[in-house]
Amino acid sequence: VRRQRNGYGYKIILLAAMILLIPFFVSYPKAIDGRLRQSANDTAVTVLNYHKIADDNIALAVSPPDFAKQMAYLAEEGYTTISPDDLLENQLNGKPLPEKPVLITFDDGYEDNYVNAYPILKQYGFKATIFVITDYLSQNSAYLTWEQAREMQAGGMTIASHTMQHKPLTELGDAELKRELEGSKAAIEYQMGAQNVYLAYPTGAYNLKVMKQVEEAGYKGAFTIKYGGVNAASSLYALERVPIFRTQDTFANFKWRIHNIPLFERLGLIKS
Ligand SMILES: [Zn+2]
Repeated sequence: VRRQRNGYGYKIILLAAMILLIPFFVSYPKAIDGRLRQSANDTAVTVLNYHKIADDNIALAVSPPDFAKQMAYLAEEGYTTISPDDLLENQLNGKPLPEKPVLITFDDGYEDNYVNAYPILKQYGFKATIFVITDYLSQNSAYLTWEQAREMQAGGMTIASHTMQHKPLTELGDAELKRELEGSKAAIEYQMGAQNVYLAYPTGAYNLKVMKQVEEAGYKGAFTIKYGGVNAASSLYALERVPIFRTQDTFANFKWRIHNIPLFERLGLIKS
């Protein structure tokens, strides 16, 4: 009996010591980071990544009521939506961003982005960016038409590239990689009259060779599904995002993800 009690007490002391040490671990990496980066703007910008906004019971589909609740939350918390151009200007030239910037993105270009998400975004005066699979637009009824894309662009949305056919770029030969990158960019320039075109990597797959090709194809920046916020340490061709999925408690997970990126980064857990 006595040995058991002693063992229990030991665990409590250990636990108390661990709790007392938490502030040290949280603040120590921040101090180092601050010293190295000096006055660089290290406020991480959150880039949210959605796919479908629909009632389909799959992780990639956030329901319209859940999406509305998340947008209401961002508005109440004082977030301001920004465009990829705003982010680029900040990254390249230090142009200031609004106090709580957020970049909302959608991958694939589903028709439900127009039917379900766009009205909610308009309600809050929010802008967003949609990475479309250019060969599917106006071809497959599950995806946007170019007409819908143009209407959303006129309403403040940015239409960007998710390549022509959504193949993982790291698995393509040189000629096909070039075609996927240049073809989708040309389609967006032609259909949208767009000048600065951005890319999101299909399936999130990229490597140094792909990044170089993306830059050579004339893209201004490229987004990954690497979890994290964008700051001065980010690469323009490997920009971090925070994926938002349908889960058991979609809203709690959404809030948790928004608020915990800075903590994770400070702890050095999610920057490579
Ligand atoms: Zn995709």
